[in-house]
Amino acid sequence: MKTTEISCLCGTVKVQLTGHPITQFYCHCDDCQATSGGAYIGVAVYPVDAVKIMQGELTTWTLKSLPRQRCAVCGTHVMAEVPGLAQVGIKANLLPKGEFKPDFHLHCRYAVLPVKDDLPHFKDLPASFGGTDGTSNW
Ligand SMILES: [Zn+2]
Ligand SMILES: [Zn+2]
Repeated sequence: MKTTEISCLCGTVKVQLTGHPITQFYCHCDDCQATSGGAYIGVAVYPVDAVKIMQGELTTWTLKSLPRQRCAVCGTHVMAEVPGLAQVGIKANLLPKGEFKPDFHLHCRYAVLPVKDDLPHFKDLPASFGGTDGTSNW
């Protein structure tokens, strides 16, 4: 089975990902904006069992409802475990080059920097994620 190793920016935290992500997307929500300082972030979602911390210590910080895990040394946001779903969202910028292949954009109603591309742009979430399935017109 394919394994991918990612690390935080200082190299203290190393995480092994087994298999392929369930889905990958850009999230434009106000929570991601506030915690990243950017307009949106890329996320690769893995089952919780596919994510193994090999080295280093993570600290958890929650702004609203999503507990985000950061390297205790350099503060790199590494991942966030989605409560109740047994899924982990890995920060896509930590993946090896070429591995991030987003399927859609999420929470576009919060977007401060619309991204015009050929992917679906959901206003909140797709129906398969419990959302309205509504799409934005950009
Ligand atoms: Zn978000
Ligand atoms: Zn670090």
